[in-house]
Amino acid sequence: MKPRTKLEHEVLRYSKYINPIGKDVKEWAFDVCLERKGFATKNRVICMDCGETFSSAIIKRKRAVCPHCETKLKVEYSRKRKDFQKNYFAIAEVHERFQLIRYFEIFSRHKKGNDVDVSVYEILQEWLRDDGKLTRVGNLHTNFDSWGGDWSIRKPGRTYYSHWKYKLYPYRYHPKSKFKKEYRKHGLDHKIRGVNILDAIKNVTTIPQAETLVKAKQYALLSHFSDRSQNIFYRWPSIKICMRNRYKVKDAGIWFDYLDLLEYFNKDLRNAKYVCPKDLKKEHDRLMVKKQLRIAKSNEESRKKKALNDQRIFKKHIARFKGLKFSNNSIEVVVLESVDAFLEESETLKHCLFTNEYYSRTESLILSARIDGQPIETIEVSLNNFKVLQSRGLHNNPTDHHEQIVKLVNQNIDKIRNAARRETKVKSLKKRDYVEAV
Ligand SMILES: [Zn+2]
Repeated sequence: MKPRTKLEHEVLRYSKYINPIGKDVKEWAFDVCLERKGFATKNRVICMDCGETFSSAIIKRKRAVCPHCETKLKVEYSRKRKDFQKNYFAIAEVHERFQLIRYFEIFSRHKKGNDVDVSVYEILQEWLRDDGKLTRVGNLHTNFDSWGGDWSIRKPGRTYYSHWKYKLYPYRYHPKSKFKKEYRKHGLDHKIRGVNILDAIKNVTTIPQAETLVKAKQYALLSHFSDRSQNIFYRWPSIKICMRNRYKVKDAGIWFDYLDLLEYFNKDLRNAKYVCPKDLKKEHDRLMVKKQLRIAKSNEESRKKKALNDQRIFKKHIARFKGLKFSNNSIEVVVLESVDAFLEESETLKHCLFTNEYYSRTESLILSARIDGQPIETIEVSLNNFKVLQSRGLHNNPTDHHEQIVKLVNQNIDKIRNAARRETKVKSLKKRDYVEAV
């Protein structure tokens, strides 16, 4: 974008006279912003810094020192022979009325047999004038997250992506960074991390809580200000407890979740015992599991409520069939008259009659075929068309008597039909009638 205003012309002119960074900054960035890795298999390690290979016998707790270049390596078990890393860092400078933030991208290419190849590019500068007016100058940030094109004025677009594409969150600020006195007095310095400095400046100069967080070096909480500031305000009493106890919140997302869990369990959110856990992750996970169990239990309670209601309906439904039975020489068929009877039948024949709440099916009648009082098969008869829908024995299998049982039911189907037509009145079910066994 071509410079249009006087300010844009001024910034673009200044930016062309800024000194390139020195070798020392590049070396610092290489040390701090990139990882030293070794890719190991059972027998060997490749040092991704010098490309040499050595025996994996010297690995200790996933760490090793390369005998060729003496680099301390973090060992990953992988057959990979190539690697690529990328990161952002920044330097703050002061130029006349401007606070300047310079952003750099550092790349490294690693390959077995080769020295690491590192490149550093300056990609963007943010010029913040003392009246708060911001001008950005730099390369074009493409949709593929690469930087290119000419060095010119850059403005965020209107779409969501392009609104954010020139807002950077550098991994580190170089220790020689210089901040204007008015920002330093609010506590801003190069130690700030994970935060966009312009957000931080805007926040610390306007919101007292943000300034307090910077001074307490609670950077993880500070980074929350940009998009979830309501959390900070809402949890401020607990945050104060952390600061008083010199407890640093390292993962703000998890910590806020954890506080929500504490609140769920009615814990005191002003008590350091709760809000400053030694092992945040562990406590968070413990409470999460506890909450899940509690929810499962309350589901269980609502299931019981439903069962009680189903049983009320069943009692009304079954009244007209009470006492209904018929038999031939050896087999007797009876109606299952209570939910208890469903449970007993299910336990004897090891089927899902009770678990699947057959007693709540008012379109069916459930009968039990018995020999010498012992259940043999359970029969479901449709009350819509008076057909036998199923008849099942132990483990849902048919028995030798199956055909005989179905025949017997069909011979007596009119008894069922007549009973179904009966009008009945039932006293309402009392709570003590409810069958507890599940
Ligand atoms: Zn090496």
